[in-house]
Amino acid sequence: MFRGLSIRLTLLSVVLLVILYSITSFAVFAVLRSYVMHGVDAQLRKAYLNVVASALETGIPSFGTTGSPQVSYIISYGGVFDSIPDSELASQIEHRLQNIDTSGTYLDFTASGEHYRILFVPLVKQPHKGQPYVATVMDDSQTVHILQMMRVVIVTVGAFGVFGAALVGFILSDRMLQPIRRAWTRQLEFVADASHELRTPLAVIQSNLGIVMEHTDESVEANLEWLNNAHSEARRLSKLVQDLLTLARSDSERMPLHWQPIDLRELVLRVQELYETIAEMKGVRLQVDVPQPVRIVGDRDRLHQLLVILIDNAVKFSNEGGEVTISVHQSRNHVILSVKDNGLGIAKENLNRVFDRFFTVDPSRSREQSSKGTGLGLSIARWVAEAHGGRIGIWSEGIGHGTTVRVDLPINSKAFAQPAKNRLRDASDGSVTVPALDSPGTPDDPVTPDDPARHHEPSVPDETDGEP
Ligand code: ADP
Repeated sequence: MFRGLSIRLTLLSVVLLVILYSITSFAVFAVLRSYVMHGVDAQLRKAYLNVVASALETGIPSFGTTGSPQVSYIISYGGVFDSIPDSELASQIEHRLQNIDTSGTYLDFTASGEHYRILFVPLVKQPHKGQPYVATVMDDSQTVHILQMMRVVIVTVGAFGVFGAALVGFILSDRMLQPIRRAWTRQLEFVADASHELRTPLAVIQSNLGIVMEHTDESVEANLEWLNNAHSEARRLSKLVQDLLTLARSDSERMPLHWQPIDLRELVLRVQELYETIAEMKGVRLQVDVPQPVRIVGDRDRLHQLLVILIDNAVKFSNEGGEVTISVHQSRNHVILSVKDNGLGIAKENLNRVFDRFFTVDPSRSREQSSKGTGLGLSIARWVAEAHGGRIGIWSEGIGHGTTVRVDLPINSKAFAQPAKNRLRDASDGSVTVPALDSPGTPDDPVTPDDPARHHEPSVPDETDGEP
């Protein structure tokens, strides 16, 4: 489909080029030719006037030669006078002029490979004497040859130009279509993944409700297990649809951000408050390291969503007794928000894929769990960061060595929001490049390996939809 499109684009540009080139070169050639021929005709006319004047004054036609190019004349008036040195050529021209039927014109004449321009002026006709005339003749082979050469050059340059334009046009259009091709493929994958992800909970709900309906004589309590399953999957479905909607809107740029001054510290403390109970239930310590208010301009709801995703992941993938630290630090005109845990960690080979949509490190594992991630959280987090003109990076020393996610945001995100849109477009082409930041595991932000064993039972309930 894209190959055909790029061929069509190339053909279109080539046709346009041919039309433009033809019009331009035809116009230039016509102007030049008319200018040159005008000069030749002016010399013939001048010679004609001289010949006529001298013939009238002296009875003998003559005119001072103007040198090169030489102009000759023929007078046919009761005899033929001519100044053409080549008698053979003279008789050929005379023959041509005798058979002419015109009231006076410029003629082109070719003999022995040479080209001549002739001004033919008929005189008043004498009875029984044939048609008297005066003609001035000039050998303009050189001029005609130059014009012909010019025509050849124009056609050759045009042909090469069209060939080159077709080649370059094809390569360029192919290259220009690449992001669209990638986005298209990505879109197809996204739709396929989304329908697959939607089908799973729907099937679970259907089968569990099916069981309940088969036992209509039993109490609700007796069917609680099936109802619970259906309910839990319905919640997961709702979260999935919500996430998909967010991503679809972000892709089509139909998700306007509501810029307002925000205190990040206050926002972090609020999300910490929301997650405290969940973390406690899991035996994870949630601590905040934001020494002072950090004011930025951003979209409060989206940044809240970003924090929820990161904290939810950190708690979800931590073991009992684990520790999650949220810190925000300001440096010059940007702030660095980092969420660090000492939990399960991520294998190095998976680090650059966790921002992919629907990517979960171990899909089979997450399906079994109550937390059942959709694999969309970090994609949304990346969108939020980039829509604010910021960047997001993830770092882990490997399985069992904890994870740190770092978000770099400009203080005035609104000013950076436009370029972020473009980056978002790039990002949606599937070319995910993370970690985007310098390693957050630098000495000033170390990850302390705590529990090397990667647990498979994160026990955070379905609270990852941005509003726990
Ligand atoms: P999910 O909704 O499944 O959590 P995300 O996009 O948020 O989807 O995360 C993608 C994957 O990245 C998760 O399945 C998980 O395996 C891995 N991941 C994200 N954050 C962490 C973390 N703090 N610790 C360990 N693994 C993580």
